[in-house]
Amino acid sequence: MPLMIYDTRTRSKREFQPRNPPQVNMYVCGPTVYGPAHLGHARSYVAFDVARRYLEFKGFNVRLVQNFTDVDDAITRVASERGVSPADLAAKNIQSFLADMQQLGIEPAFAYPRVSDHIREIIGTVQALVEKGYAYATDGNVFFRVSKTKSLGTLSHRDTEAMIVDEMAPAEGRENPLDFALWRKSQAGHPSWPSPWGEGRPGWHVECFAMSTKYLGDHLDVHCGGTDLIFPHHESEAMISEAFVGDGWCGYWLHNGFITIEQQKMSKSLGNFVMVGDLLRDYPGEVIRFCMLKEQYRKNVEYDRECFRRTSEEMDKMKVSLGRARSAHGKASGGKIDAVVKSTRERFFKAMDNDFDTATAIDVLIQFTAAVQEIDEMSIEEGKAIAAAYEDIGRVLGLFGA
Ligand SMILES: [Zn+2]
Repeated sequence: MPLMIYDTRTRSKREFQPRNPPQVNMYVCGPTVYGPAHLGHARSYVAFDVARRYLEFKGFNVRLVQNFTDVDDAITRVASERGVSPADLAAKNIQSFLADMQQLGIEPAFAYPRVSDHIREIIGTVQALVEKGYAYATDGNVFFRVSKTKSLGTLSHRDTEAMIVDEMAPAEGRENPLDFALWRKSQAGHPSWPSPWGEGRPGWHVECFAMSTKYLGDHLDVHCGGTDLIFPHHESEAMISEAFVGDGWCGYWLHNGFITIEQQKMSKSLGNFVMVGDLLRDYPGEVIRFCMLKEQYRKNVEYDRECFRRTSEEMDKMKVSLGRARSAHGKASGGKIDAVVKSTRERFFKAMDNDFDTATAIDVLIQFTAAVQEIDEMSIEEGKAIAAAYEDIGRVLGLFGA
């Protein structure tokens, strides 16, 4: 069965075909680093780490780039509350984010570009947009001219009326309330850089486009982020890309669901978040990771602390079962184990091929462990077959130290 991936743009599961196989260009929108990582981040980065691992398992050569948004009004605000510089606050949060992700078993990216290191590239992109007529400068700001593109609404599937929210009312010389800022005039207390339009700072959407282009060229096979990034962030990136490469900049748009608490999205702005660093004091990263994978990545997951305790027990059983398989030297089970291993592999990979359905894949893994536990005796060869199945599954899900 081929790998089928749900693409937000076409709203369908499509067979995965990168433009230049076996190369896969993958861009994951990184966090805005005004605080350390919370569980919502863990969900997102674990989900896309498994997608990346599975693509690699299938023989693709994945180049994954994840940015850090280290220039942002929220960073400036938190830094000033704490009496530190925005750059120091961002650097500290990036360091703790990377340490948390390492504990969660997330494989390092090919590059982690930061906005503050790419101002030159971002200004170059904005200049090119102005030259192409896709952007206009007014009073030190530069806005993207949404009316010039055909991409508006093609990712979010919203109509234009629904996109206009109060804060988008025509202001600051915008031609259209939906025109978004590519460059913002400097304000007192905010970091700023010189530009052809005066001192200022870049807008969020153009940053990701400029950084992804620098490290991955003008085509992305997979672009990932949370569902909350579809609009306006990703749709705006798509509009920017249209100015440079026309249609089809990105092959597959993947968006993960939220962690919810009492059905509300976990987020810093709602103040209901659980920090990854706090959880890591109580549970190993592997257990947190396993819990995050118990739902397919597109679904919302209700936060349940009990999940970590249950998962610890399940993982202990799996490790016992793996240890037993590795040290097996008894009588053969008469084909029983071969059948269990074969059906486990088939069902596991079928689930993963179905848009990375880790929920089903983990059920298969738990059933496998239960089946192995029931077998009294196994031969060396059978033990090896069981261990190899655990190891392959572990490589894909990032478990058992793989
Ligand atoms: Zn982004």
